[in-house]
Amino acid sequence: MHKELIKLLLVEDDPDFQRMVSVILKRSSLTVGYDIKIAGSLTTALECLNEHEFDLVLLDLGLPDSDGTEGIENIRQKYTEVPVIVLTGQTDEEIGLDAIKAGADDYFNKDEKLQGVLGRTIRYTIERKKITRELTEAKLRAEKLQKDAERVNKQLRTAVEGANLMAREAIKAEHSKSQFLANMSHEIRTPMNAIVGFSQVLADEKLTPQQREFVEIIQDSGENLLKLIDDILDLSRIEAGNIYVEIADCQIGKLLDRVESVVRLEAEEKGLEFRIARSASLPKVIRTDSVRLRQCLANLANNAVKFTEKGHVYVNVSLERDDYTSYVRFDVEDTGVGIPADRQQAIFDSFVQVDGSTTRKFGGTGLGLAITKSLTELLGGTLSLSSEQGKGSVFTLIVPAGVDTSLQDPFVQEDPGTDSAADEQPEPAFGGSGRILIAEDILTNRKLLAMLLRNMGFETIIAEDGEQAVDKALAEPVDLILMDMQMPNVNGYEATRILRNKGFKGPIVAVTAHAMTGDDKKCIEVGCDDYLSKPIDRKKLLEKIRRHFPAQRIASSTEVKKA
Ligand code: ADP
Repeated sequence: MHKELIKLLLVEDDPDFQRMVSVILKRSSLTVGYDIKIAGSLTTALECLNEHEFDLVLLDLGLPDSDGTEGIENIRQKYTEVPVIVLTGQTDEEIGLDAIKAGADDYFNKDEKLQGVLGRTIRYTIERKKITRELTEAKLRAEKLQKDAERVNKQLRTAVEGANLMAREAIKAEHSKSQFLANMSHEIRTPMNAIVGFSQVLADEKLTPQQREFVEIIQDSGENLLKLIDDILDLSRIEAGNIYVEIADCQIGKLLDRVESVVRLEAEEKGLEFRIARSASLPKVIRTDSVRLRQCLANLANNAVKFTEKGHVYVNVSLERDDYTSYVRFDVEDTGVGIPADRQQAIFDSFVQVDGSTTRKFGGTGLGLAITKSLTELLGGTLSLSSEQGKGSVFTLIVPAGVDTSLQDPFVQEDPGTDSAADEQPEPAFGGSGRILIAEDILTNRKLLAMLLRNMGFETIIAEDGEQAVDKALAEPVDLILMDMQMPNVNGYEATRILRNKGFKGPIVAVTAHAMTGDDKKCIEVGCDDYLSKPIDRKKLLEKIRRHFPAQRIASSTEVKKA
């Protein structure tokens, strides 16, 4: 049987007692053995402790070289861990308690009946000491862990503060970036306004064929440049997370008419068959951001026309349902150049085009699909592609319908509404009479607007900044104000606010080069009735004037002639 062995140092100068202890301990247990070393003095005891390890010290208080608690203190000083049980010849309890206070773990009177209790007490004391030691170690470990945790916490706090600072700076930088983009957009659009506008005016003049060709090139290039600016702005805003969708009721019929109006002409000029096929199950109204959805579809349809030389471009529109939701699915199908399988993923990245001379021939920036994909995702939808090189492509755009389609009448072909029709209608001949105030600080823009309006038969009043606009609008009769929003001194927002506060009731149409989302709202908030973005499109200008100008002042040119 395995016997546990306790190494014991007995510090005792009385040989009889030494023997007695040995005998008592040897008989005390069958399972525990004792390896007893004897020291007759404190000096010898300290030497022994120095040389060997002991599980316990049994210490007599009356030794030749020490008395009272001195021995305990000496041992404790150097050997804090070893348990010490004191033996005393005196029966005074106080002495035993003094010994405990000095660091002993227990005490016995020598005349007590040691037999039966000594062995047990030794083992308990060792065990107790061991537990105390383990507890102390655990406590130390816990303290260390707590310190570590505090240190980590501190590091974490510092890291969080750093991250917050960086986030604040990033927001600031983002803000500056958006501001920069807004300014850049304004700066580029302002001269573009003049280029596109004047080339439109020039195109109406009597020109030689060559001059006409040059003017058309200027017009085309201007429009391409504008598209490029819009794309870059859109993409930066998407990347900056600065683009928001505005979900509202949207009539699919009108939306598709508008897409058709921008694509059909181009398709027919190329001799392509163009068709938008609307499935009968389509609801009339869905909830989505109609402007963004239209942008996506126009992008896909324009691409289809651009990359197709012969055959057709179809836009097939249908309704899809799963267990929970209805979706509108747009398949934009062409019989064009197609896209090789290994490029089908990459073309959705920014600035990526399928390489090769065909693509170079078609021009473009490689931004359209990246924007379309991001916008589709913002609408909660998906964009995918199936294509075969040389045969054609189908881009599939699916967006949630956003409405309970089972409650709606199915789609019926509608008369194109006034909105959608505007793009397609031939420009109306237009004769007006009345006074329009042009508030615009940039000379070329002023001249362009004045020329367009005068050609329509209006009288124009010019204000070069907001202050002049307020003065003139209040001093003389004005039927409508075209208000540029960014002007020196008093800007358009401020001028509109002042005019409204002073009781000016006439229509104010904001004209701004800021094409950023939210600009239109800002204009309406300060009191404008409508919003027109630069470069000014003649048709849109007409449309706005028609909408807001006192009706009796406008007549078609035939009526004007008759009058
Ligand atoms: P861009 O048309 O301005 O180059 P996009 O991002 O719209 O930019 O398209 C990226 C590229 O994907 C195009 O350059 C073209 O190579 C390819 N692509 C897009 N649509 C089609 C299509 N319908 N047929 C063939 N290739 C296409």
